[in-house]
Amino acid sequence: MLDNDFTIIHGPCSLDRTSSLREQLHLFKSQYVRAGLFKLRTDQKSFQGLREEGIPIIEALKVSHSFSFVTEVVSIDSVNKLSEITDYFQVGTRNMYNYELLKKLNDTGKKIILKRAFSATLDEWIKASEYIDDPVNRVILCERGIRTFEPSYRNTIDLNAVSYLKEYTNYKVLVDPTHGTGRCELIMPMSKAALACGADGLLVETHQNSAVALSDNDQALNFNGFKQLIDELERLAPHFNKKVIY
Ligand code: PEP
Ligand code: MN
Repeated sequence: MLDNDFTIIHGPCSLDRTSSLREQLHLFKSQYVRAGLFKLRTDQKSFQGLREEGIPIIEALKVSHSFSFVTEVVSIDSVNKLSEITDYFQVGTRNMYNYELLKKLNDTGKKIILKRAFSATLDEWIKASEYIDDPVNRVILCERGIRTFEPSYRNTIDLNAVSYLKEYTNYKVLVDPTHGTGRCELIMPMSKAALACGADGLLVETHQNSAVALSDNDQALNFNGFKQLIDELERLAPHFNKKVIY
């Protein structure tokens, strides 16, 4: 991720039989792909991810396609296994404060996408990143919405945080408009806002047919919606001296 890049990491919330990652790779020639294998779900009855079963699926896709892979790591136990297939570890909102996990990830030498805990202050978020050596170069911060009093959408994207971090730190900062809003119709406007306030890119959920996705099926962009998002951001990015990479 170069300074002028606006990098759009995209893919299904969870890798599952419906998520059509191969079709996504074929259609978009995706350079940055996300897919969750281990999922932390609020309701224990919800799909928990393919877990280890997903590893050979990603291995096979990496043989036929060239892409950087991002997946969430939820526990120390799975760090070594995931290290074999992932290029970036995603640490989710629920684990931002899991310092033992961060220490273990430090040992892998890989880059970490560190999501903001939904009630973390910027100071807590940055201090968490400092569990990784050379955090400014190895940690990419991801604003994924904070919890406020407003129930009309899932979270509230704190764009102040993005501008503040770009003004006062040297971290790369992504915005996750998917979890930040929980509503696919709000992804386009919030993505444009993220570009305008200096973010280095997006982490966005896509799915061939989100209605049948096994997790977060009400907030993923379908492939047409994703194409429209890229077209619009490619049109706007030069005004902000950025180049869209996806
Ligand atoms: C995700 O990216 O699928 C996810 C679970 O995100 P968060 O940790 O921000 O809720
Ligand atoms: Mn999700």
